[in-house]
Amino acid sequence: RAAAGPQYLNGLNPEQRDAVETLDGPVLVLAGAGTGKTRVLTTRIAHILSQGRARPHEILSVTFTNKAAREMKLRLGQMLGQAVEGMPWLGTFHSIGGRILRFHAELVQLKSNFTVLDVDDQVRLLKQLLQAENIDDKRWPARMLAGLIDGWKNRGLTPSQVPAGEAAMFANGKGGKLYATYQERLKILNAADFGDLLLENIRLFRENPDVLRQYQSRFKFILVDEYQDTNVAQYLWLRLLSQAPARPGVPLSAIIPGATESSVIPGRIEDANSDVQSHIEESRDSGSALSAHPGMTEAPATPSSPPKNICCVGDDDQSIYGWRGAEVDNILRFEHDFPGAKVIRLERNYRSTGHILAAASHLIAHNEGRLGKTLRTEDVDGEKVTVTGSWDSEEEARAIGEEIEELQRAGDNLNEVAILVRASFQMREFEDRFVTLGLPYRVIGGPRFYERAEIRDALAYLRVINSPADDLAFERIVNVPKRGLGDATVQLLHDHARKRRMPLFEAARAVVETDELKPKARGSLRELILQFDRWRAQREVTAHTELAEIVLDESGYTEMWQKDRSADAAGRLDNLKELVRSMEEFENLQGFLEHISLVMDRDGGAEEEAVSLMTLHSAKGLEFDNVFLPGWEEGLFPSQRTLDEQGRAGLEEERRLAHVGLTRARRRAKLYFATNRRIHGTWSTTIPSRFLDELPSQNVEITESKGGSGWGGSGGYGPSRFDNVESFGSSYSTPGWQRAQANRNRSQGGRGGQARGGFEESQSSFTGSRSDASGSRG
Ligand code: ATP
Ligand code: MG
Repeated sequence: RAAAGPQYLNGLNPEQRDAVETLDGPVLVLAGAGTGKTRVLTTRIAHILSQGRARPHEILSVTFTNKAAREMKLRLGQMLGQAVEGMPWLGTFHSIGGRILRFHAELVQLKSNFTVLDVDDQVRLLKQLLQAENIDDKRWPARMLAGLIDGWKNRGLTPSQVPAGEAAMFANGKGGKLYATYQERLKILNAADFGDLLLENIRLFRENPDVLRQYQSRFKFILVDEYQDTNVAQYLWLRLLSQAPARPGVPLSAIIPGATESSVIPGRIEDANSDVQSHIEESRDSGSALSAHPGMTEAPATPSSPPKNICCVGDDDQSIYGWRGAEVDNILRFEHDFPGAKVIRLERNYRSTGHILAAASHLIAHNEGRLGKTLRTEDVDGEKVTVTGSWDSEEEARAIGEEIEELQRAGDNLNEVAILVRASFQMREFEDRFVTLGLPYRVIGGPRFYERAEIRDALAYLRVINSPADDLAFERIVNVPKRGLGDATVQLLHDHARKRRMPLFEAARAVVETDELKPKARGSLRELILQFDRWRAQREVTAHTELAEIVLDESGYTEMWQKDRSADAAGRLDNLKELVRSMEEFENLQGFLEHISLVMDRDGGAEEEAVSLMTLHSAKGLEFDNVFLPGWEEGLFPSQRTLDEQGRAGLEEERRLAHVGLTRARRRAKLYFATNRRIHGTWSTTIPSRFLDELPSQNVEITESKGGSGWGGSGGYGPSRFDNVESFGSSYSTPGWQRAQANRNRSQGGRGGQARGGFEESQSSFTGSRSDASGSRG
């Protein structure tokens, strides 16, 4: 069939083609996974450019991660047969917002070279503010405040807009004031945090209509991928740029026939008494949000101005960032927000084989709050989705490692293999396994194990022991945990070191003999030097693993995390234990540190074939031939937190996450559960995830673990090895695991706290993955 028109349109189906060629007016592509939404967006840009409708710098194109933006640029080059010059406005919300902000920094009281703080900086700054206010950091952790502020920023709330009820949630009503002080401090430091990149951008536009107009007329076309996961701030920002006309708000049920408000976003809209909700409603209704700001009245489009050329694509079944403030109803309201919008649905999935697609569709059908959609594939049925039980997570990692090696032997490219985990702590086991097997891997959207902050801190202690001249390491830990050796002290040490051309550590030795430091600082610096001397002496007589334990203990580093009440502290402590464990494989400290420097260095070959390891959240939009999905257990996936929660919103989001996981697979999707899992050092008996029960049996095959002795039999492992093990073995040897379900409630009650920590760690790992979205760190 000879296709008319340019090459890049070839092979598109009629609906896709319609979405590409409808350049004027608002377009929404609302369609399931793998139907070509991202491809449509990319082709659309190619079309705009090749039709001469706009130049590269006149197109605003928003992707969810920087990786996705790079990918899009690459594809674009392929479609047009030449690399695209420019496209400065292709990126994430935050990278684009940050870019705009730099051009006009002075209008929001910053300088154009402002720093973007990472989460650690942010927390450190908040700690200072708490101290100044005499607020007990243990009772009111800085991290908690950071989380609150982040949440407010996600919802587009400046300090003065935070509802009173919420501002009161922290430190007996001081939350709102601390937020305001924090913003002031940021300005003094010429810094912005991640949330500011958008929030300050919104403020910039609202307070400077002329600047806004400049961007409104620059961007002839706006394109947004993953629209279902936009939060209020992103939404407001888009609306400002797209000149969406002001319209009074209408209830969602009037937009989607049959939808009740609570079925789509439970409890969000009907709860009219809540300040928060009414604010969100207010900001969502751009009429009031905009007119509330003087000077903005001219900026929005007048009814006669042509509708903006905005094209958003998304899938309500893949909304997985609700916990971070994403509002799935942004996509459901599109037609209302952009009157006259053309809505295009795509129904053919080009990604997955029949069995995979059927399994995923069947699973997501268990959710109530969804639009519902048809998806079909013309691909073969392919292999069934497999479900494999293991005795424990170690065996699970071994089994997956073996299967990957098998794939590799059969000629599969490792770039086409991904392991998607629910919580980031699950990754360690795989990283260990891969290092042992010599299988190259990369962690996407977060740091690798040895790059995590707590691991680097611990390594810094060991490095200073090993090499007193390691200034970088010394500086990293001199005041971690806090010992009153702040910036002033470090500055003094630097001066000394520079003058006398000696390492910081030696400078410290000299300085404590003088009275240049205040007595308290001098005392603790002397104590630190003595400690290091002692550790160095111990090194001669103690095993290096033991030394590491002693150091972490005596330095107060472990205790620092034990006292930390933030959600990820438990995960960090777990990582520290894992670090000590990983040292066992080396003969001595020197050998271990050499290994680490090699591991850290290894990332050089980005082109190297490697298995991808990431959280399910980071896997959005990606696809792989082979997808491994470990840890499908109650309390881990779905997470304990959502199981403890009232209502089904959280559980439905978990199910969407499971659906996202399955739909990443082109040819093989392999699910795993372990009967025993160690979460933060404690073993628990687990039960297969309810999501496994929700898969259609005709598309699923239950297989034996290849990892070792098998979880079901009596070989090797005995319950005596663990305190609380119940044997579920035989329950799973036949299809269906209903018998295990009977145990579900009992088991859930027993171990809430442990599993919850794991889940929250995964959320905080998101803070990690934000760095990809921001492009401002790393
Ligand atoms: P997700 O919801 O997971 O983000 P998506 O809807 O964005 O998925 P794409 O990633 O754009 O889907 O496409 C999925 C796969 O299908 C890609 O490999 C893409 O190249 C391929 N594809 C899309 N449309 C077609 C087509 N018309 N012909 C052949 N392959 C296609
Ligand atoms: Mg996509």
